[in-house]
Amino acid sequence: MTTVLGCIADDFTGATDLAGLLARSGVRVSLRIGVPSEPPADPAAFEVIALKSRTAPVAEAVAETRKALQWLRAAGAQRFFWKYCSTFDSTAEGNIGPVAEALMAELGTDQTIYCPAFPENGRSIFMGNLFVGQQPLAESPMKDHPLTPMRDSNLMRLLTPQVTKAVGLADRLAVAQGAAALREKLAAMKADGVAHVVVDAVANEDLAVIAEACRDMPLMTGGSAVAMPLPALYLADGTLSADAPKAEAPKLGAGTIVLSGSCSAMTNKQVADYTSRGVPAFQLDPLSLAENGPQKALDWLAQQDLDKAPLIYATANPESVRAAQEKLGVAGAGEIVEATLSACAVAARDRGARRVIVAGGETSGAVTKALGVSQLDIGTEIAPGVPWTYCQSGGQQIALTLKSGNFGSETFFTDAQERLAS
Ligand code: ADP
Repeated sequence: MTTVLGCIADDFTGATDLAGLLARSGVRVSLRIGVPSEPPADPAAFEVIALKSRTAPVAEAVAETRKALQWLRAAGAQRFFWKYCSTFDSTAEGNIGPVAEALMAELGTDQTIYCPAFPENGRSIFMGNLFVGQQPLAESPMKDHPLTPMRDSNLMRLLTPQVTKAVGLADRLAVAQGAAALREKLAAMKADGVAHVVVDAVANEDLAVIAEACRDMPLMTGGSAVAMPLPALYLADGTLSADAPKAEAPKLGAGTIVLSGSCSAMTNKQVADYTSRGVPAFQLDPLSLAENGPQKALDWLAQQDLDKAPLIYATANPESVRAAQEKLGVAGAGEIVEATLSACAVAARDRGARRVIVAGGETSGAVTKALGVSQLDIGTEIAPGVPWTYCQSGGQQIALTLKSGNFGSETFFTDAQERLAS
């Protein structure tokens, strides 16, 4: 299989979000954590490389992205997608603009589009201004983000200091005229030397028009949503053959482990729902872990029947979290919990768990690393933005789902198990 679309995302959850939307098409989507050290052996039609470049120094972000591009080209890709946050998380230095310009230079193209809109999730662009729900970006909570405070809502103004070439706008009126007219508009702007085009989108229909108009650009950039129509477009005209490999669920043993290190409001509800069903559960206490280490949890795990899908959790209410953080520090408490859940994941796998459910963004990063997972095939969607994934860990094929913070409904842990069974 040759890769049809090579995607580069500036963080891990952004990459899973994009990969999940592409996988709705049923075509095989592969997600790589970092640029693989080996050349592509069995590339998927859609390859997504997750970088950690959102807030990295510009030169580092550009260098990592170039490496990712090289790998995707080796996989056969001729079209590329640069995925960043739907709130355009960046500073006056970058990294959205500099990375896009570096990719354009490598690809020898002199125009790309910027469309971070995700209408279903309340991100829309009108007259070049980005809205979060009904609020302009600069009035949304993003204005106080610790690393990338967004103090302007106008994407042209945000992008201009980040790039060397001209920035322009294809507004909603242009998009409303359809794909052919939008393509003409972009060509006219290109003739005028406009390299960077912000494109308005307030609804899914706009994204469909934009994707159709831009589907053959060497480089598109945006949030995940504008890429969602691409698989169907590529299938319709044969760019992607109808017999392209489908995402396939492997046959797996029933052994399951649920690990929760998220303390978000929704995860607290999910843990309460799951424990109320009488499932075997063990609660981690960061203070006792700091004193006695993880052995008690590991001993408990060793006694469990994994077919009952036991739960190990540090999930706690805000007061308990604060109490632990006061004694151990925020980072200290976090690390001790992450290390314990990681050790439990490895122990459970070694005892036969083949279905691993993890709650918590940081927790997921730690567990994935401990399990030695660097490539995931995207499988069935459990909740919006949270798919099952299939990967290799310790020589075993396993299914892994990584749920950050507030994703999923109250019954997520049982939903996940039911989705995989079907
Ligand atoms: P979320 O996706 O909900 O933000 P994360 O896993 O990213 O979840 O972050 C939760 C952090 O809180 C992790 O570093 C985790 O180790 C830590 N943590 C979990 N339980 C506790 C607890 N009881 N006390 C203090 N910190 C905790």
